[in-house]
Amino acid sequence: MIGLFGGTFNPIHYGHLRAAQELRGLFHLEKVVFIPANNPPLKKEALAPSRHRFEMVRLAIDSHPGFEISDCECGCEDASYTIHTIRKMTEQYASRTLYFIMGLDAFLDMPKWFKAEEILASIPIIVMARPPIPMDEILESPYVHDVEVDGKAGQVRLKNGKYLSVAHITPNDISSTNIRQAVREGRTIKYLLPECVQSYIITNELYK
Ligand code: ATP
Repeated sequence: MIGLFGGTFNPIHYGHLRAAQELRGLFHLEKVVFIPANNPPLKKEALAPSRHRFEMVRLAIDSHPGFEISDCECGCEDASYTIHTIRKMTEQYASRTLYFIMGLDAFLDMPKWFKAEEILASIPIIVMARPPIPMDEILESPYVHDVEVDGKAGQVRLKNGKYLSVAHITPNDISSTNIRQAVREGRTIKYLLPECVQSYIITNELYK
């Protein structure tokens, strides 16, 4: 079983890395594949060039045997749509079970996504949420039928008959937005992200 973890990773930080590590254990994933986005249609703020975001993820996961990186979004000229990524990865890993990993915020935002219903129908999804699982918010999603919570994971029955898993991960408030702001304001970002990524940001004068 392989987890696909898409994101802008602008930059990658310990919140992303720790979440991936916990999900790998919870769902017995053989590996987590990080997929840095190219130009997500819904992200408004300017992104660091994808080659830099890709390189920062590569550096951050370099020595981890259970983490990999894919350029299937960054390597394309066009804007990246999740449904296309899922189709490509399903072809690439034809004999494997794939899960698509996303944050609860992203799941709740899905009605705005291109071909959201097709995404939900085409791949099992793991939604990361911090405990306690916010049932009310999940039930507000137009795709959700009902929710059942059991220990560290919840099962959400979708209206299309599929299930998605909601996983408790340790709350961690690190965010890329705050890291970019700290760099802009000249504050330290030490201990929020791997040192190699911090050095990369400084050397390449990102987020100034
Ligand atoms: P930004 O602050 O730039 O909006 P972001 O972290 O929200 O960044 P992405 O880099 O696209 O955006 O995040 C990829 C995924 O990682 C998202 O689904 C997000 O919910 C999740 N994520 C981000 N930060 C954390 C964190 N501290 N703990 C757990 N998950 C996180």
